[in-house]
Amino acid sequence: MASKICFSLALGLLLAVAAAARAQSVRYVELPRDVIEERLRQYAGPDPARGANVKKLFREAGCSGEHLAEQPVARASAPNVLCILPGVSRRVILVGAHFDHAPEGEGVADNWSGASLLPSLYQSLNSAPRRHTFVFVGFTDEETGFSAPALTPTGSQRMILPGFRP
Ligand SMILES: [Zn+2]
Repeated sequence: MASKICFSLALGLLLAVAAAARAQSVRYVELPRDVIEERLRQYAGPDPARGANVKKLFREAGCSGEHLAEQPVARASAPNVLCILPGVSRRVILVGAHFDHAPEGEGVADNWSGASLLPSLYQSLNSAPRRHTFVFVGFTDEETGFSAPALTPTGSQRMILPGFRP
């Protein structure tokens, strides 16, 4: 059931981004299929290694410096990983997927398929100016206790958006 919810969330996010792209003529580059497939293959290892892989893939995709950050989450096995793509408006579009997995199986569909896609989405949108800021988040420990509440305003917006001044 968790995988259906995750897939629905990821699909919903992709459709929302696609709809926004159509409505506002967002410019993006289409990445080669083999780049996306190579990122999808990097699911191996325990959750902290998968989180480190998300960060590495963000770096490879061009996200670095103050735009790439980790957000510690209490009692989680690894931090959330954030990549910020600044825009010029005060609006922020959050695009997230979790990189941790349940003990059964490899967790490729649920949800490395989503987490490994985040750097590619960043890379696609980074090629042209954009109006709104995008924050891409690789979430930790979704399978054991959802980590998103740490991103709510009660969780210090400054901490989750280092270097971002709305
Ligand atoms: Zn899941």
